[in-house]
Amino acid sequence: MIRPILPGATIGVLGSGQLGRMFAIAARRMGYRVATFSPDEDTPTGQVADLEIAADYHDLDQVRQFAQGVSAVTFEFENVPAATTAACAEFAPVRPAGEVLHTTQHRIREKTFLQAAGLPVANFRIVRTEADLEGFTGILKTAGFGYDGKGQVRVKNQQDALAAWDSIGRVEAVFEEFVDFECELSVVAARSLQGDFVHYGVVENRHANHILDLTIAPAAVPQQVADEAVEIACAVLDALDVVGVLCVEFFYTKGGKLLINELAPRPHNSGHFTFDANTTSQFEQQLRAVCGLPLGSTQQLAPAAMVNLLGDVWANGEPDWIAALADPQVKLHLYGKPEARKGRKMGHITVLGETAQDAAVKALAARARLLKAVPQ
Ligand code: ATP
Ligand code: MG
Repeated sequence: MIRPILPGATIGVLGSGQLGRMFAIAARRMGYRVATFSPDEDTPTGQVADLEIAADYHDLDQVRQFAQGVSAVTFEFENVPAATTAACAEFAPVRPAGEVLHTTQHRIREKTFLQAAGLPVANFRIVRTEADLEGFTGILKTAGFGYDGKGQVRVKNQQDALAAWDSIGRVEAVFEEFVDFECELSVVAARSLQGDFVHYGVVENRHANHILDLTIAPAAVPQQVADEAVEIACAVLDALDVVGVLCVEFFYTKGGKLLINELAPRPHNSGHFTFDANTTSQFEQQLRAVCGLPLGSTQQLAPAAMVNLLGDVWANGEPDWIAALADPQVKLHLYGKPEARKGRKMGHITVLGETAQDAAVKALAARARLLKAVPQ
């Protein structure tokens, strides 16, 4: 029997963005301490952590020192090198395990794993040479280091394929068929050390410029589709032997099929609403799983919606926070990032409503109020 890690212990987080910040807030609420490791300083996670270490992920001496000071290591950033998690594992359990990260951080490994497990993915082609580009169209995606649609090019005509591959630097890639979807869905789920499985139901995600824009929870899909999505998610967490939180992103095709788009072995943007809407947030759940505690109830207390606040919201100067908060249902989350760049995730708004649709309307309206009118 592996001993649980109790309150008072320090949990290490690789990565220092908003996911780590919200994890740290949940962890501190339960009396844990948090140490974060990333190359940066004054980070969203560091601002609320007990300890912030700024060093390169490849600096394994620093990594080992970090791991020696914590009771367990988790991560919030997907592109942590395998050598980094391996160095951590010499001193503390890494949860989910480094192998999970290794599989999911690389599109070729991820898709190969999913196919081998008999799970549904869109048709794809592995691209390593020019010849692999022939006779295919769709979306060309770099195998590694992609996020928020970076490293992706839409290829509508075969003759554009070579130029597209050039534009992503001729690196290893996955050429994926373009999926004509009805909508995009996701399931955020968690698995404990003992193999218990819980999930937050099926939510709908709308993207703008390849970045998540709006999450509607629950999604308005037939019950049987929701059940199937949860079943697939359960199979993924089992097959990967996940201890922690993992999100499965789906395409729900016009033909009524569920295809896995990708996996994220950590809390996910589409689960941010759980902070305000559920008995146990995805961040507290990550903590519970990582520490070997019993998992918490995932009950959703009311239908909810979440809208992301990108740097674009600062286009006309400081956003009008007062106007957004005029609706008392609006919950504002900001990540403490000093510089509001276009396309950068700066925060989000969650609204609970009578229905998820009603919550979405209110969340979008609140965001619209943020943009101050430009003075004439
Ligand atoms: P993130 O990590 O933020 O989810 P990412 O860079 O890993 O982003 P993907 O999830 O692969 O990117 O793609 C981002 C979005 O682009 C998808 O959610 C979807 O809206 C669109 N997209 C990606 N692949 C396809 C496809 N094969 N067919 C249709 N649309 C797609
Ligand atoms: Mg995605």
